[in-house]
Amino acid sequence: MDVITLFKKLLQAKSETPSDGGLLDFISEYLEEYTSVRCDRNGVKNLFIYKRFGEGEHLSFAGHVDVVPAGEGWSVDPYGAIEKDGFIYGRGAQDMKAGVAAFLQTLKETKNFNGTLSLILTSDEEGPAKDGTLALLDYLKEVDMMPDSCIVAEPTCEHEFGDAIKIGRRGSINGVIEKHGKQGHAAYPEKATNPIHKVAQVLHHMAGINLDEGDDNFAPSQFVVTDIRAGMEVTNVTPAKLKMMFNVRNSTNTDQKSIEAFVHKYFSDMNYTLELDQSAYPFVTNPNTKVVKVVDEAIQKVTGITPKHSTAGGTSDARYIAPCGVNVIEFGVKNDTIHAVDERTTAQEVQKLYEVFVEVVKRY
Ligand SMILES: [Zn+2]
Repeated sequence: MDVITLFKKLLQAKSETPSDGGLLDFISEYLEEYTSVRCDRNGVKNLFIYKRFGEGEHLSFAGHVDVVPAGEGWSVDPYGAIEKDGFIYGRGAQDMKAGVAAFLQTLKETKNFNGTLSLILTSDEEGPAKDGTLALLDYLKEVDMMPDSCIVAEPTCEHEFGDAIKIGRRGSINGVIEKHGKQGHAAYPEKATNPIHKVAQVLHHMAGINLDEGDDNFAPSQFVVTDIRAGMEVTNVTPAKLKMMFNVRNSTNTDQKSIEAFVHKYFSDMNYTLELDQSAYPFVTNPNTKVVKVVDEAIQKVTGITPKHSTAGGTSDARYIAPCGVNVIEFGVKNDTIHAVDERTTAQEVQKLYEVFVEVVKRY
C-alpha cells in the first residue's frame, strides 16, 4: 500500500470520538513487525507501538485516529474519501488522518534507525481527552519507555505546506468574576450600589489588555472578555450582581497568580469573587534541540521552505507529553478546513508530509 491508499483507508473509517472505527486493530496489523501494546482505559482505545532498532535515542510519533462528528451540509460523503477538484475530502483529512497516514507509512518502510521508533495513538483527543494520551503516558512511565523526542502530526501549516511547525503551545485559563452590589431603583441611584457602573470604570484597563509583553516564542497573553451579564433586561432596576467571564491564552510569562493580581489591582475596592480554572498549561521546546533542528532540515529538504516556529492556536495533546520531559513539536498539513464542513487536503500534501517524516527518521 502507498501512503495515499493508506490515507484513504483511514478516512473511510467512521472514527468519531471515542470510537476508533477499528483503526487501532488495523494499525497493529499494518505494523506487524513492531510490538503493539493496547493501553485502553475507561472505554477509550489507545495503542503504543514500538521497535528497538539500535541503542540510540527514542523518537516517537503521536496522534489521534478519532475525528469530530461530520455534521450536516457536506458536498460529498464525509467518510467516502472522495477525490474532487484536486482535493481528497473526508472528516479528519487534515485533523489528523493525513498525519497518521504519513507516520504509519514512514514506520512501515523504515529498515534502519539508530534507536527506538514508536507511535503513541489515541481515539480520544477530540473528546474529554482524560483517558487517551494521558493513559498512554502513564503506561510509558510505568515501563520506563518515555521517548526522548516526539513529533505530533497535528496540522500546523497556515498558507502553504511546510510554512510552520509548532514548538510549543499557549495555555488556557478561564476566569469568572462576580461583582456584588446593592439592587435599587433607577430613579434613586444614590440608594443602590450599581455593579455595572463600578465595573464600567475599570473595564477599559482590562478588556483586550496584554498581561505580558510576549517573548521570542510567545505572543503577549491577552485578557479576553467573553461575556458580561447583569440585570433583568429592564430599565428601572439596577442589579445586585454582575458576572464577567474571560479567557487568557497564557504564555509561560503569565500564570494564575499574575491574573489574580491583575484583577485585584482594579477590583481591590469592590466586593468581588474570582474563580480561575486552568484547562491547559503553556509549554515551549527549546528551538536548539535536536528534534526541532532535524524537522526544520527535513522540511527545507523536501519543500525548500524554512518553517516558522509557532506557539499559536488552540491546545493539543502535546500539552500532556511536554511535562513528561519529552522534547515535543508538532508538524502536519495545512489546517484551513479542520472541523469544518467539506474538510479536505491534497494528495500532494500527504505525500510531502510522508517524505518529510522519512527524511526526519533518516537524519535523526
Ligand atoms: Zn487534532
